[in-house]
Amino acid sequence: MIAPWLLRLLYLVAAVLFILGLRRLQSPETARGGNRLSSVGMLLAIVLTLLDRSIVGYGTIAAGLVVGGAIGLTMAVRVKMTSMPQMVALLNGAGGGSSLLVASAEFLHSEERGALMTVDAGVSTMLGVLIGAVTVTGSVVAFAKLQELVSGRAVVFAFQKTLNALLFLTVLGLGAWLVLDVTAPVGAFYTVIAIALLLGVLLTIPIGGADMPVVIAVLNSYSGIAAAMTGFVIGSEVLIVSGALVGSSGIILSQIMCKAMNRSLANVLFGGFGATVTASGKSAAGLTVNTTNIEEAALQLAYAQQVIVVPGYGLAVAQAQHQVRELMELIEKRGGTVKFAIHPVAGRMPGHMNVLLAEANIPYDKLLDMDEINASFGQTDVALVIGANDVVNPAARNDPSSPIFGMPILNADEAKRIIVMKRGMSAGFAGIENELFYNPKTQMLFGNAKDTLVKLVSEVKQV
Ligand code: NDP
Repeated sequence: MIAPWLLRLLYLVAAVLFILGLRRLQSPETARGGNRLSSVGMLLAIVLTLLDRSIVGYGTIAAGLVVGGAIGLTMAVRVKMTSMPQMVALLNGAGGGSSLLVASAEFLHSEERGALMTVDAGVSTMLGVLIGAVTVTGSVVAFAKLQELVSGRAVVFAFQKTLNALLFLTVLGLGAWLVLDVTAPVGAFYTVIAIALLLGVLLTIPIGGADMPVVIAVLNSYSGIAAAMTGFVIGSEVLIVSGALVGSSGIILSQIMCKAMNRSLANVLFGGFGATVTASGKSAAGLTVNTTNIEEAALQLAYAQQVIVVPGYGLAVAQAQHQVRELMELIEKRGGTVKFAIHPVAGRMPGHMNVLLAEANIPYDKLLDMDEINASFGQTDVALVIGANDVVNPAARNDPSSPIFGMPILNADEAKRIIVMKRGMSAGFAGIENELFYNPKTQMLFGNAKDTLVKLVSEVKQV
């Protein structure tokens, strides 16, 4: 048993470690250290809780560590960077599920004792159950959509919002009854869980696959709120603090993503964006594209004074980050400068490109945010667009009929020349045509990004 004052002090240390860790996530340079700090805080919180409360025997703790550690290690090694959003969805689901189980156990325990919880504890318990259950099934649907186990299309039907509102009101009514009336049957509690699980599905299916990363950030926030509520139920301050941190950072992250797509959170969650195949904005009918080949592209890059690389989802899929670093080094050795233009929603999750390029040891000062670099495209000899599409689509600026109209984009079209590397003419995540590809200054270099970069590197070496 640890002295109560020491326990609270150590919990405070854990909470401070979470906050310092989060702060360090602000920049790619310090992010790894930040992650480590937060995990030390989490380890401290878990060990203290287990030691203090004698919740389970040491054998069970050891077994949990081995099984959990093995699953975590396997996932960390096997999950690809491009599948990270799915993985986060599953982790959120697990967080929500834990809150659901803990809050349910507390409620059922008080039920056994025939005692009424205090109103505060009862409200926190019901919220923990409701938000935890919505997070579990919502995360499973998000996972299935991202993993393409089910269609990514938004599923909308008549009176969907009315049905959701009715279910929500029913849950609130049942929850209030359970909190206020000790004679309320336990069946009402199970009904709350069942309806909340159904709500998780119903609230997530009308959201299209393209918006799933935002939904995951929102679910992340829910899982934090559910954990904080559970913290109130079991009187764990460290759980309240960590839940509040996750809850608020998840909502801030979803706001950042919405801003980068020029949409409101309400539009993402309730707008049914992606329910139909969207009108493709301007049609490309009758337009032709210019193509180039490795030799020509290598010559242009070798003699360029200023190159801006625009990385996108295709670069991540092709895992071509190391080859792009080699190309950068070759161009710089010849006297040119190379910078990377990072759009906030390039790839499939925030920070995707920073993490990818940092992994290939591309210096952080070469990675410039959209606002920092957009004015430089006009003086750039070559904009090299690698597996990016929506984030350089000028329709976002010029075509009010486009579904991405208003989304801030990288001004690659202002460069003197644009080389676009992708496999064919397929659309990006928004599913729309890109007029940049038909720009007379643009040359398409078709092929898998990694294969093309390998060939480009060897060709530039020979120039
Ligand atoms: P896009 O999804 O617009 O385009 C990616 C392009 O990469 C495709 O057109 C594809 O064309 C090409 N590609 C795929 N595989 C390869 C490969 N192996 N080699 C070369 N090219 C390849 O990517 P962007 O990064 O430009 O845009 C991200 C999109 O995701 C935006 O619409 C954004 O709103 C959305 N999104 C992002 C979020 C985030 O947090 N990052 C969150 C929510 C949404 P082809 O098949 O012809 O090769």
